[in-house]
This record gives sequence, C-alpha cells and structure tokens, in this order.
Amino acid sequence: MHFGTNGIRGLFEELNPETAVKLAYGIGRYFNGGKIVVARDCRLTGEVLKNAVVAGLASVGCTVIDLGIVSSPTAEYMIRKLDAEAAVIITASHNPPEWNAIKVVDGKGIAVSKERGKEIEKLVEGKLWWNRVGRISFYENATKDHIKAIIEMAGKAKKKKIILDCGNGTACVIAPPLFKELGCDILTLNSHMDGRFPGRPSEPTEKNVENLIRAVKAEKVDCGIAWDADGDRVIFVDEKGQYIIGDMVYALSILWSDVKGDVVTTVATSRVVEDAAGKKGLKTRYTAIGAPYLCEAMEGAGIGGEEVGGVIWPELSLAKDGFLTGAMLVKALERKTLSEWVKELPSYYNVKEKIPAKAKEKSELVKKALEYAKKEKLRYNDIDGVRVDYEDSWVIVRPSGTEDYVRIFAEAKTLEKAGELVEKFRKITG
Ligand code: MG
Repeated sequence: MHFGTNGIRGLFEELNPETAVKLAYGIGRYFNGGKIVVARDCRLTGEVLKNAVVAGLASVGCTVIDLGIVSSPTAEYMIRKLDAEAAVIITASHNPPEWNAIKVVDGKGIAVSKERGKEIEKLVEGKLWWNRVGRISFYENATKDHIKAIIEMAGKAKKKKIILDCGNGTACVIAPPLFKELGCDILTLNSHMDGRFPGRPSEPTEKNVENLIRAVKAEKVDCGIAWDADGDRVIFVDEKGQYIIGDMVYALSILWSDVKGDVVTTVATSRVVEDAAGKKGLKTRYTAIGAPYLCEAMEGAGIGGEEVGGVIWPELSLAKDGFLTGAMLVKALERKTLSEWVKELPSYYNVKEKIPAKAKEKSELVKKALEYAKKEKLRYNDIDGVRVDYEDSWVIVRPSGTEDYVRIFAEAKTLEKAGELVEKFRKITG
C-alpha cells in the first residue's frame, strides 16, 4: 500500500491488521523508535487496525501512548503536550464508513505527505529484535486536556443557544462537554458514536446536514455546528438556517482571530479568504492542495485553512481544529449574529467543469493556461495547476490526481461571470 496526499487509505480488503502492522514497522523506524501517540475514530475497523498499529510500532522499539477514541485535532494537540515524536491516527476523515486510513503527523505537527511517505514505505521490511520491543501505555485524558486548551485560547462565552451535529463521529466525545463548559445551552444531533454513521454521511455538506438546518430554524437557536467523523472539518449554520461553507468558515475565523502572521491557504480556496486577510492588513500565501502541504507552509504564519472547512490555529497545533474553530464562533456571537458576520464579507459564486483528458494531455492543457497567463501578464500562480486572479474573480485549471480529467473552477461576484470565466479557459486550453 502507498501513501496518498494525506496518509494511507483503503478498504478493509487492503488496509487490514496484516498491512497495518507492516506500515507501523515503517512508521516506527522512520521516527527512530521514538515516543508515538496513537488515536482512532469510531469506525468499525478502527479497533483492530489500532491494535495492529500499536503492536507494529512497539515491535520496532517505539514507546506507544494509546489515546483511545479521540478527534484528530485532539490527537495532534497531544503531540506537543506529551512531547511525542509523532502521532498515528486511524481515521478516514469524512469518507464513508467502509473506508479507513492511517494518517501520520510528525513531532512538529506536520502531516506526512506522499513524498515523505515514500521514505516510510522503504522501511517496512527489516529485522525485528525481541529485546528492543517498546512499552505500550494508555492515556485517558487527551480530550479533557484539549478542551482545557481550547477554553484557555477562545475564552468562555456568554450563554448562547446552539445545536451540535456530531455526525456520530468523534465529535460526540468532545463537542458536547466543550460547548457546555464554554457556557452554551446545547442541543445535539447524531451525538451517539456509531462507526456506521447512521445519522448522516460524514462529510458535512449542505445536503448532508439538512436536519441540522431544519433544527436550527425550528428551535430558533443562535447557530448550528457540524463536523466530519474525525473533527477537523467544521461548518456552520447561521441563526436563519443558512449553510456556511468551508472557505467562509475560514474567512470568518480570520476576522475573529488576532493573528499577526500571514494567512495560508490552498490554491483552491475562495477569494473571500484573501478579502478577510486584507481587512486585517494581512498577506495571503497560497500552497498546493492537501493538508500536509498546508502544514508545511505554516512556518511563521498566523493562521491556515483549507477550502473544505478546516482551520489551523498554530498557537494550539498545526491540526485543522474544528472544535477550536467552533469555540471561536461562539465567542464571536457575543459581538454580532452569525448572519451579520457573514455580511461583513463579499459573497461569491462558482462554476466548475471537468474536461476529459489523459495523463499527457492533462499537462498540455495546464501548460496552455500558464502560457496564456504569462502572455497576458495576469496575476497567476502555478503551485498546483494554474490559478489566475483577476480584480474580483479567479479561475484555476488543475489536473485531477486520480481521474482522467482536468478541472476548471471559477469564482466571481455573479454566477454569470463565473460561467464566462470557465468558458474562456475552456477555450484557451481546448
Ligand atoms: Mg476530517
């Protein structure tokens, strides 16, 4: 099995205890048999995979600290707290329940990319020594520690009435106690952990959280918050029942934070993030798409975030922390309602299109977009595909990593303009 953009993902036929134990040998050797925290989400395959990973790591000499079922941001927060060399998290994030994955984060809190994963893959085979087996221990207070750190950073809030949609994932462990301690009146949805995700699919898309939207309207609460299975992604629903998409969650977080450093985000993120940064007098830096690339670029940055709704608050860790982000929202509601906050920023519309293309054609199409941007002296970057930024719109032409497509995505102040931009770049690359 091979590392993808963020860890090793697979169905149980492929990613099972047999393969997991071997991967753990490689991971343990890569981190020189150091101290490693291990955590998992609540998927049905989580327990056996975690036991295999723990056994594999200890077999190559690691000191393993098992955190049990906790959210990904909790596990990543514990790296610094327990002074570990790495965290290994068994979670397939927002993917359907039959999937699982092994995610690796190093001692600095940086997720291991595909490139670094190749080094780990080389270390899978090797001799095992009976007298170098490491110790395994349990640590049960990770969620408590994380809650305490979040409250210290965000501060307690005035009583707000909110609905938490935990999606039957690890948010069930942390979100209800956290928001109670923050001082909120809470109602919950899908708050029983169940690795089959019976309440709703794990990805918090607008369609998947329709029950939350309905509940927010019916109960007349201040907001709704929903997470994916491992709790790094978060979305909001305002007091009117309006769904607030990931990039907007990030943009709002910038307004609520008192960051000084750069704003870091991927090339696929809405212009609204740059607008929010501009309001705070901050510079926006773009990275390739994928959590590891975002983490790697966080050095000296003030805040980071992805288009899918994950915000990195480096003061706490380099994890996308959906719970700290939620806590910052609750605090911000003391000043304005969520819909008033959204009005502080411009709204954009987007249009996307897929152009069928094989491997070689893909790079040709992207090259054409790049040549055009250069020739027209446009503002562009080619970190990951080609993104061209205009006055109040932008477009990206990017090859799909897994399918035979080139994607064109445009965003503008009107749907019509976004459509025109896609059409323009379809012709340029066509
Ligand atoms: Mg996730």
